[in-house]
Amino acid sequence: MTIRGLITSLSAGLALAYASNVDGQVVVTKKARPAKTIVIDAGHGMGNRRSGVYDPGAVREGISESDMNLAYAFETGKRLSEKGFNVLHTRLDNSTETPLSQRAYQANNANADLFLSIHMNAVENTGARGPIVYYQNGSTTGSNLAERVSGELNSLTNSIQGYAVNSNPVRSNNYAVLRDSKSPAVLIETGFMSNPSELRILTQNYKQISEGIAKAVDDYLSNEVRR
Ligand SMILES: [Zn+2]
Repeated sequence: MTIRGLITSLSAGLALAYASNVDGQVVVTKKARPAKTIVIDAGHGMGNRRSGVYDPGAVREGISESDMNLAYAFETGKRLSEKGFNVLHTRLDNSTETPLSQRAYQANNANADLFLSIHMNAVENTGARGPIVYYQNGSTTGSNLAERVSGELNSLTNSIQGYAVNSNPVRSNNYAVLRDSKSPAVLIETGFMSNPSELRILTQNYKQISEGIAKAVDDYLSNEVRR
């Protein structure tokens, strides 16, 4: 399936999920704990940096990062919902204005327990590869969450042929979405679209990689509860 087709089918599924909530159905979660709220931010999109201007992020082989991010955000969100979490998205398409400066506040306003920003990497060196997870400079909770997500993504390199561990897989930086988030937050660069073989891996294995992200979040929040 093309990424465009994938997004269309995932969007349809997501719209159905929201429709059932609007109808007032009680969602019974399998886990005996209050449902935590996770906000997932698909990086880039309409109005990201300038109002009315679409920001596709990186574009390689006709595929835009903005679309890839949506596909991963939907799939990760679906899996987290299945694990019993409340899931909210900062954006559901490429046409709704979603300013970068507002995204962390969308999560704060929703009393998010955790914030994930999903991106794909791109650089000039086509050999660069492997997932990188960023946390806000100086944030202990961010660092712990980043280590867990990175550990899970790196373990996938055993089962996804060609998916490699980055030489520096956990990094800190000063990104608006991380800096302004009140909850533990990470920005995930899932892999390099600028590496042709990794781009193929990212498009073909989005379900397994999304499940890895969801599992890491579940593990992290389960440990938080026990503490
Ligand atoms: Zn990006």
